[in-house]
Order: sequence, then structure tokens, then C-alpha cells
Amino acid sequence: MSNKRFSLALHGGAGAAPGHDYSVEIAHMAGLIEAGRDRLAAGALALDVAVETVVALEASGLYIAGRGASPNAAGAYELDACLMDGLTARAGSVAALQGFESPILAARAVMEKTPHVMLAGEGAMAFARAQGLVEIADPERWFTRAGAFETNHPPDHPVGTVGCVVRDAEGRLAAATSTAGVFGKMPGRVGDSPLIGAGAWADDAVAVSCTGQGEYFIRTAVAVQVAHRMRFGGQSLAEATAAAIAGVAALAATAA
Ligand code: ASP
Repeated sequence: MSNKRFSLALHGGAGAAPGHDYSVEIAHMAGLIEAGRDRLAAGALALDVAVETVVALEASGLYIAGRGASPNAAGAYELDACLMDGLTARAGSVAALQGFESPILAARAVMEKTPHVMLAGEGAMAFARAQGLVEIADPERWFTRAGAFETNHPPDHPVGTVGCVVRDAEGRLAAATSTAGVFGKMPGRVGDSPLIGAGAWADDAVAVSCTGQGEYFIRTAVAVQVAHRMRFGGQSLAEATAAAIAGVAALAATAA
């Protein structure tokens, strides 16, 4: 076991629903933290642990990502994900991906198997298929929130992007984010979650995964803003994140 310091943080989305009992989600996340700790103690790479954690969050059906996705306004499941490796500044992303169990694995494949950073829509699906990623055989049965839009009842926690940031024992950083986006979104809508610099960022100093109303996070480039506040502005992580979120809140307050 390595005795070097490592750390892991994860999230299951902004916007706690009043009255919702989150004990299942909390227990699930606690288990993932323990699994990640064991992996990191054994010397696993930050990127691997971030991806493994997000795969587990997607597969659980507990969050608005992967299996727990809610449909868009047309009843389709268009999922977004991205990841970034702070050591190499390599990144991968998929947007409006339909038909695959794990968008974050598709994003990783984009990073590792293509000269590109981001694939969207049909092209992303064709690529994921060619990579042999696991396809969803029956979306009506697969998604735990199938029909949520038809009944006009948002899921009881209508935003629930998942994400994970990791620092491994060698000091390498990685970030990963995955989502179905916001409830009732327009077909083709892409939020911050698959956008490097908005929904995720990792470099040699910080790793960031965001959740919240994506339009505000895009317009203020929250993830890279945090990194640049620290790198160029000399701010602490707490100062940088507080300032970035204040920018989001200012836009939200004007609803502009
Ligand atoms: N940021 C996501 C989006 O706008 C939503 C969320 O974080 O729950 O697509």
C-alpha cells in the first residue's frame, strides 16, 4: 500500500428535492468512496478511478445520469459526458449520445481512440458502436425514470448530474462528469457537462466537476475559471469556487 496522500470527491447532482430521503444515495456514494480509496491506496491512476466511479454512478439508476436518466421533451434520452486527465491535458467528450449504457466510457474512448476531443449525436453513436460499447437493448425497460416526461412529473430531484474528481498517490489529477441534462430539455440541447472548461476540468493543480443549470456554467466557464483563478489569480480552491459560483448565482438571479 502506498502511504502517499490521495483524495477523491464525487457528487450526484445539484438541487436537493425538499423532503426527499437521500439515505440510499448517500450510502451508495459512501460505498464508492471506499472502493475508490482502496483503488488509490493500491496505486491506481486518478483517471481510472474517476472513470470507474462515474461508471458506477451511471449504472446505479439513482441519479439523472446513465441508467437514471430522464428523457428530453421528445421522450428521447440524450446523454452527455466528458473527462479530463490533468497530467496530459488529454480530454474526451460525448454529447447527445443515445443508446449506450455508459456515456463516460464513450467519452474515454473518444479521448483514447480518436484525434478529437468531442463527438456528438449520430457520429458519437456510430463511434461507440464501432468500439463495442454496451448498447441499451430496451430503453423503456432500461431507464429507471422512463415515462417521467410523458406523465409531466419531473423526477423528484430534477437535476442530478454525476461527477468525480480524483488525486492519485502520485499527485495526478482527473475529472469526469456525466448527465442526462436538465428535465424536459429541448431535443439537441447540450449543457455544460460534456464541455471541457465548463462542466469539467483537470490540470496539474486542480480537478473540477460541475453540476447545476448548465447554461449558466457554460456562460461563465466555471470549471476552467476555478483553475485559472487559482493559477493566475493566486486564489485558494475555496476562494476560486466561491467566486465562480457567485458568478453563476448572479446570472441566475437576473434570469438573463
Ligand atoms: N449541468 C447539467 C446540465 O445542465 C445539469 C445538472 O447538473 O444536473 O445539463
